[in-house]
Amino acid sequence: MNAQLSYEFFPPKTALGREKLLTEVLPKLAETCPAYVSVTYGAGGSTRDNTMGTVKDIHATGIPVAPHLSFGTDSEETIRELLLHYQSIGVARVVALRGDLPSGAGGSQQLVFANELVEFIRQETGEHFTIEVAAYPEIHPEAKSYEVDIINLKRKLDAGADAAITQYFFSADAYLEFVKTCREYGITKPIYPGIMPITNYDNLARFSRNCGADIPRWLDKKLSGFGDNIDALKAFGQDFITDLCKRLLEGGAPGIHFYTMNQAEPVVSIVSELKQAGYFANQ
Ligand code: FAD
Repeated sequence: MNAQLSYEFFPPKTALGREKLLTEVLPKLAETCPAYVSVTYGAGGSTRDNTMGTVKDIHATGIPVAPHLSFGTDSEETIRELLLHYQSIGVARVVALRGDLPSGAGGSQQLVFANELVEFIRQETGEHFTIEVAAYPEIHPEAKSYEVDIINLKRKLDAGADAAITQYFFSADAYLEFVKTCREYGITKPIYPGIMPITNYDNLARFSRNCGADIPRWLDKKLSGFGDNIDALKAFGQDFITDLCKRLLEGGAPGIHFYTMNQAEPVVSIVSELKQAGYFANQ
């Protein structure tokens, strides 16, 4: 199966974190031959220098890297500068996002929705960048309805984005139904499932509340039931996520984008199990 792998990192805040990412995590993940890795960006520029630095470091290793551009309150001028910087150093793809604004953040921004960012990128840099955008199988928390969110995804793709990466989710049915509906609405471009490994219940519960990802009740009970038994939680999490990936790939997903949380494990183990089972066979 010729499916695509990609990995997401956040920009480390410390020299130690950067060292670990570049000398341990990245080399281990690189052995699995990802198509690219991406680096998040704090909406409104909160991680601007760290994101640019991390992107530059990864780019120097030769691994294709895609900075996230979550514009938040960034002005068009700031976004233009970032785009031209990335273009000048040879970065060839970006993930284009609106971002979430910190509460009370003022609005000097001229762009409002991510489809406008995609238009802006195409206007400023033509076809230079491959552009990924965000999709929400469980629907974006602010969306007016299931259908309206899909229409808004279509706007981003019609504006010139090449593919979408989803928010993480734990229900294969949520993704498969979402993709089916997207196709009914005329979306033909690839929609890569974004997958979050399970390694820590408290963190996962907190992230999920913040981004509107649903942890099904049975799974929430099961995970919280492991209590301090982290090894048991990780072993269960690895099996669960590997099975989820298999169901998605069997159902036609064009690949998997892993939210690595800057850890090589358990992603490396999950991917190696998927490879042994015949997925990602050509890589
Ligand atoms: P949009 O596509 O603009 O959508 C936002 C909301 O507005 C949705 O409810 C949508 O239905 C609606 N909408 C969209 N277009 C229109 C329109 N033209 N008219 C009316 N309504 C519209 N956040 C960060 O801060 N940094 C990151 O690095 C980051 N990386 C991410 C990576 C992925 C793969 C994903 C899935 C999310 C990421 N996020 C990141 C979170 C993201 O920024 C938030 O989910 C944000 O709330 C929405 O961003 P968006 O690009 O999907 O926005």
